Amino acid sequence: MSIVSVHKQGDHSSSQSENLLEIKNLKTYYPVKGGFLKRTIGNVKAVDNISFELKKGETLGLVGESGCGKSTAGRTILRLLKPTEGQILFDGKDITRVSGKSLREIRKNMQMVFQDPYASLNPMQMIGDIIAEPIYNFSKKSKADLKQEVMGLLEKVGLPPDAYYKYAHEFSGGQRQRIGIARALALKPKLIIADEPVSALDVSVQSQVLNLLKDLQEEFDLTFLFIAHDLSVVKHMSDRIGVMYLGNMVEVSNKDSLYANPLHPYTQALISAIPTPDPRVKKERIILKGDVPSPINPPTGCTFHPRCPMAMEECSRSKPVLKEVKPSHRVACHLY
Ligand code: SF4
Repeated sequence: MSIVSVHKQGDHSSSQSENLLEIKNLKTYYPVKGGFLKRTIGNVKAVDNISFELKKGETLGLVGESGCGKSTAGRTILRLLKPTEGQILFDGKDITRVSGKSLREIRKNMQMVFQDPYASLNPMQMIGDIIAEPIYNFSKKSKADLKQEVMGLLEKVGLPPDAYYKYAHEFSGGQRQRIGIARALALKPKLIIADEPVSALDVSVQSQVLNLLKDLQEEFDLTFLFIAHDLSVVKHMSDRIGVMYLGNMVEVSNKDSLYANPLHPYTQALISAIPTPDPRVKKERIILKGDVPSPINPPTGCTFHPRCPMAMEECSRSKPVLKEVKPSHRVACHLY
């Protein structure tokens, strides 16, 4: 599979040094054990050979149904999961196999914002201490300096100073996500991987949190990998979008081209399901047959062929590669 360049809209020039992240042929398989001796009898191919680049300061949205491998890809890039094959280059360094102290150093620059901030906040710890902990671990600052820094972070994410002394259960879902964002920012990272950061929140607070992320990106010069299943949320956040299906990247494009003219039949179905704000506008919805097949035994050829309304004979025989069919618009489909 070819490497996907991720550019700012309208900017097609790419230089190696501008890439913060380069993912090359990344695979993450989970072994499936079976039989009396618990031998490996197969693999769940959660991420199956994806490649892309992410330039400094931009946002790549990763979309797809649940189980398509987008969260596994994010966790593998952060090295929370072990890659099976491929390469992860971060800021010019190969971090695919680093461990121990080197991995700890890299983690400083790559942080995650989780879907459920409540599950990732220790209910017994004061919010001030939760945010201060990573700063203290890396810098051993004095108590007074730590407190000042945490107060500054609380202000940046729109929380009052007294949030410092409270506990996670005293906050609403949106406020807890703000705490999660403050903690992710504490070490001044270069890359933030946000995994469904607003999908657990009420619609009324989703846009506030998304706008906060955008403002912080500008202020802290952050690069985002933004993972979500909701295409309207991804559209709001991203410069470019990658669509994943069954562990593969099936389409990557700048967002305007993707939403105006989706090329892959799977992307077309996803976009047809976005509700229109105006009820008078009639939109034909493409209903896909069946469920996402098992990643343990994915279909041959194009893994989408059992559900694809456009499938042809060759689709079950040969796997399409991701190729550029329009400037900054790549698709893996035999129709093109
Ligand atoms: Fe559909 Fe064939 Fe294209 Fe796959 S390669 S998306 S089955 S038309």
